[in-house]
This record gives sequence, C-alpha cells and structure tokens, in this order.
Amino acid sequence: MKSLHILGNHRVEIAEFPLPEPKANEVLVKVAASGVCGGEMHAFRGENAMAMNGGHEVSGIVADPNGHPQWDEGDRVGVFTLGGCGKCRWCRMGRDTFCEEVGTPAACHSEYIAVRANAMVKLADDVSAGAAVLLCGDGLGVPYGGTVRAGVGKGDVTCVFGCGPVGLGMVLMQRFMGCWPIAVEPVEARRKLALRVGAWQTIDPAAEENLTARLRELTDGIGPDACFECSGRQDTLDCAMDATKCEGIICQVGHGKQQLDPQKLIIKRNLTIFGNWVSHPGWYPDMLCLYRQGLPIERLITLETSFENAQEAYSRLEQGLEGKVILTWA
Ligand SMILES: [Zn+2]
Ligand SMILES: [Zn+2]
Repeated sequence: MKSLHILGNHRVEIAEFPLPEPKANEVLVKVAASGVCGGEMHAFRGENAMAMNGGHEVSGIVADPNGHPQWDEGDRVGVFTLGGCGKCRWCRMGRDTFCEEVGTPAACHSEYIAVRANAMVKLADDVSAGAAVLLCGDGLGVPYGGTVRAGVGKGDVTCVFGCGPVGLGMVLMQRFMGCWPIAVEPVEARRKLALRVGAWQTIDPAAEENLTARLRELTDGIGPDACFECSGRQDTLDCAMDATKCEGIICQVGHGKQQLDPQKLIIKRNLTIFGNWVSHPGWYPDMLCLYRQGLPIERLITLETSFENAQEAYSRLEQGLEGKVILTWA
C-alpha cells in the first residue's frame, strides 16, 4: 500500500509500505481522509526520517471487520485519535484518554490502517469524510474540550494565544458559543484565518509594547474572562497569567517547556488553570449536535488535497498559511 513517509528536513514523500495486519482487537480500515496535525511539524522540521508518519486524525471505510460483528465491510467510520481497552471505568464513561491501555492508530497517512474495533464510530450520511476527521480527531476535540470545560458562553471575552489549527478551532468554537474571541498571533496569514473563523479582534503580539495592557484596554480594564494558551510558549503563558481577569480561567493546551509559579498570580487573583489533552470518544455525540446546529467546522479546513500534493501542503502549513489540512487518496 501507499503511505506518507516523513523524511525530516522539510521533506515528505509517498512510498510503498506493507499492508498492516490487524490484531485480534482491530479492524482494517481503508483511509478516506486524513488530517495533518500541527504537532507533526516537529518531525517535518526535524533532522531524522520517521519510520512512516504520525497521522492520527482520520476517517475511512471498513475494509475487513476481522471478525468483529459490530462492523461490516463498507461501513463509513470516523476514527478516534485515542482508543482505550473498552472495559475499564474510564472507557465505559467514554473517556478512553485516561485508560491505562490507551493507544492511537499508527501512521494514519496511509491507504490502510489497523484500528481498535471500539475506537471508531459509524458515520451518518450528513457527516462527510472531512468533517469526520474534525469531529473524531484531536484537531477539534481539543478546542471543544477546552471551551466547554472552561464553561465560557454568551458575552464572555476570551483570548486565544496562538492560531495554529487548534487555536483556530478554539476561536471557531468560542464564537459559536456566543463569546467574543480575541486572537493573539504573530503570523499575518493566521490572523486572517482567525477572522474567517470568527475572531472579534486580532492582535499581532510583535507590534504591542504591552500585550497585557492591550487586552485590558479591550475588556474595560479587567482582562479576558478566559485565556486559552495554544502555543506552548513561556511568554504567552506568562501573559495569560497576567491578563486573565481576577477569578478567571486559563486553559493550557500548547505543548512546550513551561514553568508555573502558583504563588505569583494564581492565589491572589483567584485564578483557575486547567489542561486538556486530545479528545474523548464520549464527546462525539455532543460535537455532532453542535455541527448539526450549524458549527461551521468547514471554515477550519483551508486545504483539502490529494496525498500527491502532501509536500506542498506540509510546507504551507509550516509557513502558517493554512488552517486544517486534509489529505485524501484520489
Ligand atoms: Zn492531532
Ligand atoms: Zn480502558
């Protein structure tokens, strides 16, 4: 089968790899659409080639149910980024992310993948392969989890630091919930994308002498109700800690080496800080409801193209020119 090979040094290629052999608890899925995650840029920029690729946001068609009676050949499925054992307490609550046996299907930028039989959902006819990538993967799962768990809604001013695919998803989700999202992002193309998905204001942090002061200015002097750190940087976390209003909320989803000093600001300003990792399969029904009520997730997808064009797609994503990129086997 064909699969994307991430070579590092800003290069990818399509190469031949053996067809995956599903284990007893897995089924074989033919990939229809595969989302590129911002996190993959580390390997794309890195010096070493990966064994294959790190794709993990995917939808497809069951090619071989491998004896699992709940699946038929030809079923259209969305694949969850993380699946658990299906039996433990966390899995039974739909929170597979915390299962001790949690795993992700490997190398999803491929023609075929092996997926745990319990880590997929059958797609309704109104959910396209591209939409399923967002509704089942972490690309929109993190913005959903961060926004819903922050409890923000109508009239709240939110601030999103970093507008890669996840940050853009935060802006989209928060606008849909009735918030007024401020997008802080140094790359101009991404600020434009933030406006397209519903940002109320955009700020270029490089052009601001005092970002906290600017955020206070936009919020009648008190700061945003909630800040969402999506870049994993120390300076953005520090700014979020400074700028969030007293008794406000900070959601940390950017991955990076950061330090937090609870004494400094959290205690005296009664702040709450929480994290959100990937997405829970149990969230799918609610995310599907939001989609059917009009959550415009298609606006996040700025490029849907054939795997043959993967090199250009990865380069554009690296330059900050794209939101969500979806690759398909033509
Ligand atoms: Zn991802
Ligand atoms: Zn489990």
